[in-house]
Amino acid sequence: MIQVPSLKGKAVAVMGLGKSGLATARALMAGGAGVIAWDDEDGARRAGAEAAIPIADPLVINLAKAALLVWSPGIAHTHPRPHAVADRARALGIPILCDVELLALAKPEAHFLAVSGTNGKSTTTTLLAHVLDRCGRAVAAGGNLGTAALDMPELDADGRYVLELSSYQLELVDTLSLDVAILLNITPDHLGRHGGMAGYVEAKRRLFRQLKPGGTAVIGADDEHCRAIADEVEGRGLKVVRISSQRVLAKGISAVDGLLLEDGRAVADLTGITRLPGSHNGQNACAVFAAARADGLTAEAIITALASYPGLAHRQELVAEIDDVLYVNDSKATNADAAEKALVCYDRIYWIIGGQAKDGGIAALEPQFHRIVHAFLIGEAAEAFAATLDGKVPYTRCGELAKAVAAARNLAVSDGHEGAVVLLSPACASWDQFKSFEHRGETFRQLVGAIPGRRAP
Ligand code: ADP
Repeated sequence: MIQVPSLKGKAVAVMGLGKSGLATARALMAGGAGVIAWDDEDGARRAGAEAAIPIADPLVINLAKAALLVWSPGIAHTHPRPHAVADRARALGIPILCDVELLALAKPEAHFLAVSGTNGKSTTTTLLAHVLDRCGRAVAAGGNLGTAALDMPELDADGRYVLELSSYQLELVDTLSLDVAILLNITPDHLGRHGGMAGYVEAKRRLFRQLKPGGTAVIGADDEHCRAIADEVEGRGLKVVRISSQRVLAKGISAVDGLLLEDGRAVADLTGITRLPGSHNGQNACAVFAAARADGLTAEAIITALASYPGLAHRQELVAEIDDVLYVNDSKATNADAAEKALVCYDRIYWIIGGQAKDGGIAALEPQFHRIVHAFLIGEAAEAFAATLDGKVPYTRCGELAKAVAAARNLAVSDGHEGAVVLLSPACASWDQFKSFEHRGETFRQLVGAIPGRRAP
């Protein structure tokens, strides 16, 4: 756990008592701050009280005494509607920041490398941490992924903190000073929380406000929003390394046709790295290569380290091969753009989709529909998706994941096609039927685990 001594003796309010809020309250208390914490949910407040964290409603106490309000990024504070506690703090002129900012305050000398983007953040964060670790750096990874910022270990001054930062967190940092800032891509997502596309892009743009002079910006060159941001950041005199998985860049890092290229010169063959399938992972590999180069590592060392990446659960994770059918868990594909990345990797797909639909649904995936043998619809989005698929892809309304897995397995086995893949890549949030995308993926894994048949080792 990281202590935050700079707030010793000050009153600090903590809003939200999930994983990051609990870690925040503990770290502040350990550093000697006077904490009061709150969560709109009863259960979370109980968890806080059980952890001996003082609980009080910020709308009832005298919030004016607080030096700071630490906000859990998962709680909406401006859009779709303002939160009363955030409004109160704003009216009182109390800064609203998140746990990542406290980490920055606690570790002003540390090296920070941050990863943001609509898709690929977790893969890139863990891949970068893996590469740095394999190359002998002391490294800790966390933030939006896995370990909460203040639950990360204390590192010496030459250690590296690799942070996954969501758009929600980026709105809530101030003095965080980054050595390397990676922005992978921007496609529409979370628009409700940011009041539309302009607000979402603006939140991502803030990543580069945090880049220190002499730091390196690594920015995707494959979408117009990122291209505009790259030009703008370069215009401010900062170093920008562009990355592309669509075309070879004369200057920058590219991954095209399975090759990784630095300034147009091939430096590695990515096709043998089975844990990084698809061109989207080419983009992630480019980002990691650029960031690790900026951190002073050699191309050879980075490439050797990339090859031993173990992969992440729920991202095109091969769960099993049973009776020559592959079962792939891509539960983390919570929007159409992410699902497309998995679809393009296979040609005979028994596709399990559905959940809580995002804006635009799956209409944008139509160019990949020829890869789908049959779709199995689950969750709230079933009717809307059925309407999109009608006349283009055969589908079955399954309601629940268990029925979908059984139906997909039966059809895939009876079709007997070579290369059949039962793919859970839902293009939807999970909250209508599951606690989280992890819960959805675990459930898929358990269901597949119970399928009888001949398993490949
Ligand atoms: P995030 O943390 O941003 O949600 P993940 O690494 O967890 O990203 O990947 C989420 C989903 O996005 C995966 O299902 C994967 O197929 C897809 N994905 C991974 N990297 C990229 C990328 N660079 N561009 C687009 N989609 C990606």
